Amino acid sequence: MEIKTDEKIINFIRKRISDSHSIVAVLGIEMLVEGGGCDLDSNDENYRVEEEYGFCPEDMLSTSFFNAKVEKFYRFYKKEILGMQQHSTPAYDALMRLQAKGKLSAVICQNYHGIPQDVILNKVINLNGNININQCPHCDKGFDIHYIMNSKGIPQCDHCKVAIRPGIRLIGERVDSELMTQAAVACDKADVLLLLGKNIYHDRLEYSAAPEHKQLKVLFSKNEFECNDKVDFIIRDDICKLLPLIID
Ligand SMILES: [Zn+2]
Repeated sequence: MEIKTDEKIINFIRKRISDSHSIVAVLGIEMLVEGGGCDLDSNDENYRVEEEYGFCPEDMLSTSFFNAKVEKFYRFYKKEILGMQQHSTPAYDALMRLQAKGKLSAVICQNYHGIPQDVILNKVINLNGNININQCPHCDKGFDIHYIMNSKGIPQCDHCKVAIRPGIRLIGERVDSELMTQAAVACDKADVLLLLGKNIYHDRLEYSAAPEHKQLKVLFSKNEFECNDKVDFIIRDDICKLLPLIID
């Protein structure tokens, strides 16, 4: 198993995690990809989707597209978003070990696919919504993912007969302010912040603690152009390979 990260850095981070009392993990797109999902924002996927639907994923996942072309939205959404499967990885096992030790104070999930079904993590903040929670915009009745998948064409509320609103945050919408506050409070208290991959939304959310609070920030990013002076280390290895090495 080839690891790019220097052993001294691995040992340093491992020691800080071992000494830590409060760790927050922020899950980005690489966690989904390593678990079998795909990054619709990658060049190949962007191209493929645009060839098939005539629009790129970012356009189709916007509020304006949903409002103007709901039928096309759901054709794309059901196949490409809801059709994506994900499974657990050694990175999730490592997070569960942290949780068992009482060190994991929150998991902030930026991916609207949430965490894999067989992963048990408490205190998950689904910052950008979740594909499993869908609502009628009129009567607020909830509908699960199976209802959406099994409906023909546009999924409608069985009572109001209007298009159901998907449970994810569409592009152009703000982050739910209550969830944002919960995430910010958790990050502020953490002594170690693990940023596990990139945010699928391009609105760079800043997670940080008050300056007087000593906090170690580790960003996992494969993008070699990524430079971020707000983090202590940038790790280029697969999350599922490296995280088990720094979490005993
Ligand atoms: Zn309704």
